Amino acid sequence: MAKKQNIFALIPKVDELLKDEKIEKLLEKVPRITVVESIRENIEYIRKKIIKLNEDEVEDFKIDEEELIENVIQKVTLKNTMNLRKVINATGVVLHTNLGRALLSDAIKEDLWNVASSYSTLEFDIDSGKRGSRYAHVEEIITKLTGAEAAMVVNNNAAAVLLVLDTLAKNKEVIVSRGQLVEIGGAFRVPDVMQQSGAKLVEVGTTNKTHFSDYKNAISEETAVLLKVHTSNYRILGFTEEVSLKDLVDLGKKSNIPVIEDIGSGTFIDFSKYGLYKEPTVQESVLAGADIVTFSGDKLLGGPQAGIIVGKEKYIKEMKKNPYTRAFRVDKLTLAALEATLRLYLNEKDVIYQIPTLRMLTISFDKIKEKADALYEMLKNNVKNCTIEKMEGVSQVGGGSMPLEEMPTVLIRIKPENISVNKFEELLRNYKTPIITRISEDQVLIDVRTLKLDEFYIIVNGLCHILMG
Ligand SMILES: *Cc1c(COP(=O)(O)O)cnc(C)c1O
Repeated sequence: MAKKQNIFALIPKVDELLKDEKIEKLLEKVPRITVVESIRENIEYIRKKIIKLNEDEVEDFKIDEEELIENVIQKVTLKNTMNLRKVINATGVVLHTNLGRALLSDAIKEDLWNVASSYSTLEFDIDSGKRGSRYAHVEEIITKLTGAEAAMVVNNNAAAVLLVLDTLAKNKEVIVSRGQLVEIGGAFRVPDVMQQSGAKLVEVGTTNKTHFSDYKNAISEETAVLLKVHTSNYRILGFTEEVSLKDLVDLGKKSNIPVIEDIGSGTFIDFSKYGLYKEPTVQESVLAGADIVTFSGDKLLGGPQAGIIVGKEKYIKEMKKNPYTRAFRVDKLTLAALEATLRLYLNEKDVIYQIPTLRMLTISFDKIKEKADALYEMLKNNVKNCTIEKMEGVSQVGGGSMPLEEMPTVLIRIKPENISVNKFEELLRNYKTPIITRISEDQVLIDVRTLKLDEFYIIVNGLCHILMG
């Protein structure tokens, strides 16, 4: 009778497997360490299986070497895929923070790669041959686009707010409306940031109403800043009142106190022109006289992650000297992507087509319908074992921007016949190019708003693979 010990001896050795023809082919493309690791893991799996065998199962136990090799190849493929990789966003949420927020424009590819793969002018002034400033590259174009005197860039908007408050209000008081003590996703809470900066928070007004006199009465010897925060991700509706930036600026001027506005999702585009809710533009805040305005690079602006600070030169100068600036500094990839993205804004007519975020937000309903029809036909003609229908729905802006906006869209809804909808969603998510969808009732929803045309093929192939084997 066969004994367990004897079966263990049947397990192929790592060295033997490495000489297999298929594995040798694999080794031409994949690091040896990855292959060896995958072999070891598969062997370990077999070993565990043997340990769990009952005595009466021992006799029939076989090791299928072909299958083992296939499993190794599968594991190698999995290990050899980048963890951070492309997914297909079929949720319709345009600024999906978990899926990477803004997509960069195809138009900036070359500029970005040139800087990334070569030496560059990062901190080098060509004219003088001396050390230059890494911020100079974008400062000019930011001031041109916004009308501000000066500009600088840090890692993100949270860092920008912290840097501004640390520079202007450390150990002093900052007056802010209770209606604007916001929490943005990812644990960015205005009161926490202020505490971190060493500024003292002076809350005025109530949740729904803050009057001009509330600010005025709160001003003291200790007041360093009047702060206005855009309530990006929620709205207080109904019986409400807030003080306009213009009025705050007037008050600040009279009292000789700078006014800072965190507008969150900075935009240069007036979205009301495209039938969407109006978001405050950076230009308007600058024009209204804000001393400092901060905003994100990868929300509605459609660029890389960054925090952009614009405003009066004397304040920006002070900030550049703050050690936080060094700690929050952006790298050359960010600067290249930001400069190239900002250059697209010089051509206002084309920019909404060139920047994916703007394109997806302003696409007409007719165009959405066309897109949905095209995907629907492709799916209908190729995919079986499910019902496929179109229906009207809404997509969201996301990224804590325009919370009330419900953009009309067309959804493709798919109901699998042989597996549960949850299993279906999971398989889509685990497809080699992950397809991220929404579930509603017992169907998976695909919103075409956030899909690129070349992704239609991947979706069709993915569905065929999952539903038809
Ligand atoms: C999003 C947001 C932030 C944080 O910006 P990040 O670039 O994500 O750091 C800060 N303030 C407001 C009002 C925001 O909307």
